[in-house]
Amino acid sequence: MPVYGFYVGYDLFEWLLFFLFQWVSGLSVTGGYHRLWAHRSYEAHAAVRLCYAIWGAASVQNSVFYWASDHRRHHRYVDHNDLDPYSVQRGFWYAHIGWILRDYNPNSGDFSNIKDLQRDPILQWQHKHYLALVLVTNLGLPLLIGYLHGKLWGTFLLAGLLRLVVNHHLTFLINSLAHYWGRRPYSEANSSRDNSLLALFTFGEGYHNYHHHFQYDYRNGNEWWHFDPTKWLIKSMTWLRLTNKLQKASRYQIEKAKIDRQFRRALFVLEHQPHQENVRHLLQHQYQRFIATLTEWGKLKQDGYEDKRRALRKTVQSLDWRLRRVELHHRLKVHRKQWHMLLNELIAHAGKSLPPA
Ligand SMILES: [Zn+2]
Ligand SMILES: [Zn+2]
Repeated sequence: MPVYGFYVGYDLFEWLLFFLFQWVSGLSVTGGYHRLWAHRSYEAHAAVRLCYAIWGAASVQNSVFYWASDHRRHHRYVDHNDLDPYSVQRGFWYAHIGWILRDYNPNSGDFSNIKDLQRDPILQWQHKHYLALVLVTNLGLPLLIGYLHGKLWGTFLLAGLLRLVVNHHLTFLINSLAHYWGRRPYSEANSSRDNSLLALFTFGEGYHNYHHHFQYDYRNGNEWWHFDPTKWLIKSMTWLRLTNKLQKASRYQIEKAKIDRQFRRALFVLEHQPHQENVRHLLQHQYQRFIATLTEWGKLKQDGYEDKRRALRKTVQSLDWRLRRVELHHRLKVHRKQWHMLLNELIAHAGKSLPPA
C-alpha cells in the first residue's frame, strides 16, 4: 500500500472515498450493531436497518447475531475471564484483538441471548449472506468505483483495505483501551472508563463508563457537547421519522450516579485515616441533603414532563411551578458548591493515600 502510494500516489477522490467508507461502515457498527441491536436503545425504520446490516458487514466483525450475542455477554459478565468474550483482565492485547484472532470464546455462537434479534428478517438475511456482503462491500464496490474512476488499485487499497484495518483497530480500542485508560465517574463496579480522546476516534463510543452504567441509553456521551456522532445521527434521524423510542437516562439518574460514586470514594478515603468521625458525619449529612434536593428537583421535572404530555401546559408554566423550579435550581447550586468544596478539602487532606479514580 505505501509502495503504491510512493510510485503512483492517491488522489483526493480516493481519500474522500476512504473517509466516506470509514464513516458509513463505522457508524453502522456503533449505531446499528451496538446501540440498536445489542442494546435496543431505540427503534429504526427497515430502510435504516438494511443500511446498517449491509455496511456493518463491511466492517468484517461478523454478523449481527454473533456480534450482539458476544456484546450482551460482555455487558453481563464484564471482566469475567471465562464469560466476558473480551475481558480486559486477560490483558490489553487479548481484549484488543487476541479474542478474535484465536478461538478463545467457547460461548460464541450460543444465540440464546438474542432471540429478539433472530426474529428480524433483515438480520436473518444478513446472517445468511454475510460472506457475500463482506466481499461485495470490501472488494466488489471499491474495485467497481476504482474502475469507473480510472484508478482501480488505488481506490481499492484505500477504501477497501486501509479503511478495513483502521476500522477494525478503532472498534477494538473500545474493548481494550476503554477498559484500561480513563476516568470512572459513574461506577467502579467494572473496569470500563470514560475517555473523551477515545470518543474522537470511535464515533463517540469513548464514554464507556457511562455506557456500562446506563447501557439502555442511545447516547454514550450524555452532555450535548460530548463528541458522539452516533448519538447525533440517531437523534437527527428522528426528525425524518426514521428512528423513534430513543431511550435515555434522566438528568436526575445521571447526577445521582455521579454523587453516589463521589460519596463512596470519599468514604473510602476516610476509612484509611484515623480520627475522622466528625468529617464522616459532615460528609454523610451533606450527601443526604444534596440527594434530597436532587430528588425533589427530579420529581418536579418529571411532573413537568407528565403535565406537558397531558397538554396541561398552562398549569406547568404556572408561576408557582416556575418559582419552585428556580428555588430548587438555586438550592442545587449551593449544595453542589458545598459538596465539591468538601470533597476537594478531603482530597487535599488525604494527599497520596487517595485511591485511583
Ligand atoms: Zn455496549
Ligand atoms: Zn465494555
